Amino acid sequence: MSEASIALLSVYDKTGLLPFAKGLKELGFRLLGSGGTAKMIREAGMEIEDVSSITKAPEMLGGRVKTLHPAVHGGILSRDIESDLADLATNKISPITLVVCNLYPFVLQTQKEDCTLAGAIEEIDIGGVTLLRAAAKNHARENSVISDATKRGLALKAFESTKAYDEAIADYFRKTYASVDSSVDLKAGAGVGYQRLPLRYGANPHQKPAQAFVEQGEMPITILSGSPGYINLLDALNSWALVKELAEAFTPALPAAASFKHVSPAGAAVGIPLDDREAQVFGVADIKDALSPLASAYARARGADRMSSFGDFIALSHPVDAITARIINREVSDGVIAPGYEQEALDILSKKKGGKYCVLQMDANYVPPEIETRQVYGISLQQRRNDCKIDESLFQNIVTSNKEMSKQAITDLTVATLALKYTQSNSVCYALNGAVIGLGAGQQSRIHCTRLAGDKADNWWMRHHPRVLALPFKKGTKRADKANAIDLFVTGAVFEADPSERAQWESLFDQVPEPLSKEEREEHMKELKGVACASDAFFPFPDNVHRARKSGVQYLAAPGGSIMDAECIKTADNYGMVFAHTNLRLFHH
Ligand code: 5GP
Repeated sequence: MSEASIALLSVYDKTGLLPFAKGLKELGFRLLGSGGTAKMIREAGMEIEDVSSITKAPEMLGGRVKTLHPAVHGGILSRDIESDLADLATNKISPITLVVCNLYPFVLQTQKEDCTLAGAIEEIDIGGVTLLRAAAKNHARENSVISDATKRGLALKAFESTKAYDEAIADYFRKTYASVDSSVDLKAGAGVGYQRLPLRYGANPHQKPAQAFVEQGEMPITILSGSPGYINLLDALNSWALVKELAEAFTPALPAAASFKHVSPAGAAVGIPLDDREAQVFGVADIKDALSPLASAYARARGADRMSSFGDFIALSHPVDAITARIINREVSDGVIAPGYEQEALDILSKKKGGKYCVLQMDANYVPPEIETRQVYGISLQQRRNDCKIDESLFQNIVTSNKEMSKQAITDLTVATLALKYTQSNSVCYALNGAVIGLGAGQQSRIHCTRLAGDKADNWWMRHHPRVLALPFKKGTKRADKANAIDLFVTGAVFEADPSERAQWESLFDQVPEPLSKEEREEHMKELKGVACASDAFFPFPDNVHRARKSGVQYLAAPGGSIMDAECIKTADNYGMVFAHTNLRLFHH
């Protein structure tokens, strides 16, 4: 080096500082240091100047201002261009070639048990962050000592570390100022909101700490009652997206409901009125008042699989009325999310579970960011949100000879496809009368989804059998016990069960019911017709079409792309089915 290049050193953590400074000296650097850094190097017998020798200003405010000065930042930020060099000359500033910096230990400070707000704020590094950002911004400046690859790597590292540093500060401020139990004006003048919801634990009780937060603006969820847990929120957010999109898929919008368990729907439906038999099957026949469309939607959603819906998280697309609240109130459920509540409905729900029932109000205008990020095992995964719109236009490419797609079939395929969009993959869904009737989630093989969903649809239909509707339950049998007993009956499982289980089952009835015979089952199954079935990815083999047909499926929707497409279409043709290729894969994880 001809004229000595300047290296500016300002480090809080001084581990390894001396050998590093020695190395810089050997390379011919002229060293410049902030207070403590310069002191340590000087005391080790190396020559170093104080930053104040170039700023001509002392460190001040107890160290809050050390390096924040044009002599420093002009020296770091100047480019090798005429105007910058002229500015340096006019202001008698020497270029700074290298910055060595690490920051005040903000995180360590906030982890101390006795850490106060003032103590935390004092550990917010200002000048060091500015040094790092300035040096990283100007990393491309000519430099004969350090390779371009190293400079690029260091620039990236600098911005990553200042981002993480600022994130830690934001996290601390969010916890201190913007948690649900504190209050902060997040939009000047717009009132008090919050960004962060502390959670008791994550997916499991030993996963602590846990929290939910937004990074900007207000949390779109208001807690009206109870306190949601981590899985409640996963259910609430996925089910809200489902019902919002389901309602919007139709013109005019149809109220929609979903009943979630473990981040997949147990049921989802739109508000088509119930006939008397459906009212009985879905457990609402005793309600004398007419059901609102929203109440019908929830009765259908809950009626898809009453057993699985035990302890569900509910989403409703429209403000909750009293009758819907009354239906929810007598079911075992964990919580509900909706865009609003009529006063009477809120009064009912906020008393449920002794006041612990979780009632969430969602801002219906909230639009999530286009890009979503999550971490798995420390690795960040980022993607565009699955914001594709699902409506009737998706089912236009009919690939079978039969092209008679009824309006009802389109409604049912829309419900089934939207349910899949928010179901853990692989998934297959059967729907009828605007409601899911069988859903196979999270299976590794498609045929297993198709079978699982088909078996659920069959059981759903068997629950409509007159003998099931007339089961002589003892007075006072609980709703959940009835749902379990009916499942044991329609699947026939109880008749192969251990005698003790069977005795327990029998004790629920005034007279012990005879099993459904093979003939009774077959006769009844023949009446299950016009069912719609959608798949979140292509059918790899025609076995899926065969299985779907057994559960009365007449309408199919799935993306094409399998080498067996032609075989699957041929199979559908043989049954006279209508098959729409959607060209839209809907994996969800
Ligand atoms: P030293 O021990 O050398 O006195 O201080 C080093 C620390 O000060 C480094 O962690 C560096 O990031 C920080 N620092 C450098 N310049 C400034 C400044 O102008 N203001 C504040 N608050 N910190 C600074």
